[in-house]
Amino acid sequence: KPRVLSGIQPTADSFHLGNYLGAVRQWVALQDTHDAFYFLADLHAITVEHDPKLLRKRTRVSAAQLLALGLDPARTTLFAQSQVHQHAELGWVMQCLTGFGEASRMTQFKDKSAKQALVSVGLFTYPILQAADILLYRPQYVPVGEDQRQHLELTRDLAQRFNSRFGKTFQPPEPYILKDTAKIYDLQEPGAKMSKSASSPSGIIELLDDPKISAKKIRSAVTDTGREVVYDPENKPGVSNLLSIYSSLTDRTVEQLQADYDGKGYGDLKKDLGEVVADFVTPVRDQVKSYLDDPAELDKILHAGAERAREVAAATLSRVYEKAGFLA
Ligand code: ATP
Ligand code: MG
Repeated sequence: KPRVLSGIQPTADSFHLGNYLGAVRQWVALQDTHDAFYFLADLHAITVEHDPKLLRKRTRVSAAQLLALGLDPARTTLFAQSQVHQHAELGWVMQCLTGFGEASRMTQFKDKSAKQALVSVGLFTYPILQAADILLYRPQYVPVGEDQRQHLELTRDLAQRFNSRFGKTFQPPEPYILKDTAKIYDLQEPGAKMSKSASSPSGIIELLDDPKISAKKIRSAVTDTGREVVYDPENKPGVSNLLSIYSSLTDRTVEQLQADYDGKGYGDLKKDLGEVVADFVTPVRDQVKSYLDDPAELDKILHAGAERAREVAAATLSRVYEKAGFLA
């Protein structure tokens, strides 16, 4: 089976719909046909100021959400990044292969650092650690949202650079990005992506929010001038975003939705979307609650995942160390 790998940061109390539609939904679908490795990127979560207690809690909440959304630890290797020490070790090797100018071109760093009081060097080098996260597992595909495309390009470059300096070791991985859901936008700022850490609460639909709150956020989403419900990302980014979300949570295409809302207004669309979201999140929230009732069981699942992940990671790292010239 071809291998896939991806990760998500435990940087909030809840994932948002962008995380699910852009990434996690594909993770769930791929676990049947692929050898799947998915991790909680807790090392990345400390690139911005963090509270240790909160990180521990959010790591468990994140694991619970992935399980509730359909990841099955029997078919999938699910683990916490910090429990596989090879990530940090390969990360260092990759840092030494990356040019300073090359790292400076990462647009996500520019966006995120603008919002931080203290900008850590870790935030700057995080895409390089991410390259190591990926290459350790030698995956064929990396299912992510559009915002990660540039980081995947860097990963491919580093893989090729390592190969050409030290001999063929890595197969550059391909991004797996689904066009329709690659980028879900902030409800209040339809030009920016919905983000756990960068969006204001009113702009994000959180999976673990009370559905009444989500319905309210959807009702007050920024819409566009005019009254017709049409998909036109250029001129009507707000309405188009709502249509993308609606379509991807139901079996109706955007074209069908346009026809269904012909003659109706934004208000009807928003009200119905609130219900669609409620139907989706209600069972997820219930399941998350029951997973969180037993944190010891969650930790056990993650330990078992880390053990499997370490086997693959250790094999890759020892090849890398050997090629780099470290003593055995
Ligand atoms: P943070 O603000 O802490 O970076 P985030 O919301 O960007 O949080 P990540 O943990 O960085 O979430 O990313 C997890 C996955 O979700 C990645 O594959 C990313 O591409 C995807 N993703 C994040 N935001 C969106 C979005 N708005 N639309 C589609 N996919 C998204
Ligand atoms: Mg992010």
